[in-house]
Amino acid sequence: MSTAAFIQLIYLGSASLFIFGLKCMSSPRSARLGMLLAAGGMAAAMAGTVLDPRITNFGWIAVGVLAGTALGAYIAIVTPMTHMPQRTALSHAFGALAAALVGVAHHIDHGPTMSVITRSALTFEVLLGCLTVTGSLLAFGKLQGWIKGSPLVYQGQNVITFALLGVMTVLMLYCIVEPNAQWAFYLMALLALAFGITLVAPIGAADMPVVIALLNSYAGLAASATGFALENNILIIAGALDGASGLILAFLMSKAMNRPLMNVIFGRIEVGTAASDEEVYGGKVRSTTGEELALLLADAQRVVVVPGYGMAVSQAQHAVRDLFLLLEKRGATVEFAIHPVAGRMPGHMNVLLAEADIPYERMIEMDAINPTFETVDVAIVIGANDVVNPDARSADSPIAGMPILDVDKARMVVVVKRSMSPGFAGIPNPLFANENSLMYFADAQAGILEVVRELKAI
Ligand code: NDP
Repeated sequence: MSTAAFIQLIYLGSASLFIFGLKCMSSPRSARLGMLLAAGGMAAAMAGTVLDPRITNFGWIAVGVLAGTALGAYIAIVTPMTHMPQRTALSHAFGALAAALVGVAHHIDHGPTMSVITRSALTFEVLLGCLTVTGSLLAFGKLQGWIKGSPLVYQGQNVITFALLGVMTVLMLYCIVEPNAQWAFYLMALLALAFGITLVAPIGAADMPVVIALLNSYAGLAASATGFALENNILIIAGALDGASGLILAFLMSKAMNRPLMNVIFGRIEVGTAASDEEVYGGKVRSTTGEELALLLADAQRVVVVPGYGMAVSQAQHAVRDLFLLLEKRGATVEFAIHPVAGRMPGHMNVLLAEADIPYERMIEMDAINPTFETVDVAIVIGANDVVNPDARSADSPIAGMPILDVDKARMVVVVKRSMSPGFAGIPNPLFANENSLMYFADAQAGILEVVRELKAI
C-alpha cells in the first residue's frame, strides 16, 4: 500500500472515531466514552498528518505539539466546570486563530498560483477565522467577567454591522477573482477582526450560550475551509462535523432560550429593562432556616429539586443526593427539574447529578415537569436564579420569552442561595418575594447538609 493510501485509511478510521464519539456524546451515560473515542480520532488524525511526505521539517511541529499539550493539560486541570463556557470560547479563539494563520501563511506562499477553488476556500477561511478569533475573545472576556456582560448597543449599530459585512463580502469576492490583490486580502482580514467584535458586543451575557455554540460552528467551518485549501481530507471532515454540531447546538440553545437564531447571528437582541431591587423585593422577602426547611420536608409528599449554577459552584450534588435518599426513605417522591441552560453549559446539571448517582429517570426535563408544579408540596431551588425567574413572562424584561421552570406554581418554594445577588442575567427575581417563597441564605452544600442533619433528627 502506498503512503498516500495508508494516510487516507488512517483518516477514515479517525473520521469514524469522531462520528462514533459524537453519537456517544448524545447521552450522559456514554458521553465519557464519546470523549475518549474523539480524542483517539484526533490522535489518529495527527499521526496520519505527520506521515504526509509534504512535511519535511518536524522540529517546529514537535515544539507545537509539546507546547500545545502542556498548555491544554494545564488549562483542563485548572478550569473548574463552572468556567467551561469561557474555556470553550478560548478554545474556539485558538482554533480559529490557527485556521486564520495557516490561511495567511498559505496565501503568502502560494497566493498568486492557487486555483480559484483553493483561493475561494482560503479567503473564506481567513474571513471566518478572523471574526471568530475576536468574537470568541470578547465572549471569553464577558463570561469571565473581565468585560461588562451587559449588551453594548449604540446608534446605527445595524447599519455598521451590515456595512462591514457588505464590504468584507465584496473584498472576499475581489480576492477570489484577482490573485494579486494583497491589500484587499489583508484589509478583509482586518475588517473581519472588527466584525467579530461588532457581532458579539451587542449580545448580553445571558444570551452568550447561543453565541458560544455559533462561534463553535464558525470555527469548525473555518477549519473545514482550511482542509479544502490544504487538500487535507480529515480537516474537511472534522471541520464539517464541528461546524454542523455547533450549528445544531446553537439551534437547540436558541430554542431553549426562545431567541430567534437570526437575531443572535446578527447580534440583534431586544433589550428590555429590569425593575430595581427595591421595587421587586422591598419588605417582601422572608427568610428561613435549615431546621424549618427540614420540618417542611418532613411532611412533604412530592418534592422537586431545581438545581442551578450555585449547586455547581458549591459542589453540593453529593449533599443533595443524601437529602434525596433520606426523603425517599421517608416515603416522599423526589424529582429533579432540569432547565436546558441551568448552570454554565448544556447538560451541566445532568452531569453533576449523575456524578452523585442520582437516577436518570428522576431528572425531568422542563417541558415534562412544568405542567405538574401545582402538585408539588415543596420546590427546593438550589443555586438557581435566572431559570426560575417569572419576570421572563413579562414582555419588557431583559429575559422576556426565555422559557423558565414554573416553580412559583408549587405550594411552597424554598430558595437556597447565599444572598440576594442576581444570577447570570444580572436582574432581580420576583420569585424571591412571592408569598409562597422562603429564602434559605446559605452556601448550597453547607445548607443542604444542615437540612439533612435536621431531618435525621426528626
Ligand atoms: P444563575 O446564574 O441565574 O444564578 C446562580 C445563583 O447561584 C446566583 O444567584 C448565586 O446567588 C447562586 N450561588 C452562587 N454560588 C453559590 C453557592 N456557593 N451556594 C449557593 N448559591 C450560590 O444560574 P441558573 O443556573 O439559574 O441560570 C443559568 C444562567 O447562565 C442563565 O442565565 C443562562 O443563560 C446562563 N448560561 C448558561 C449556559 C449553559 O449552557 N447552561 C452557558 C452560559 C451562560 P448568591 O451569590 O446569592 O449565592
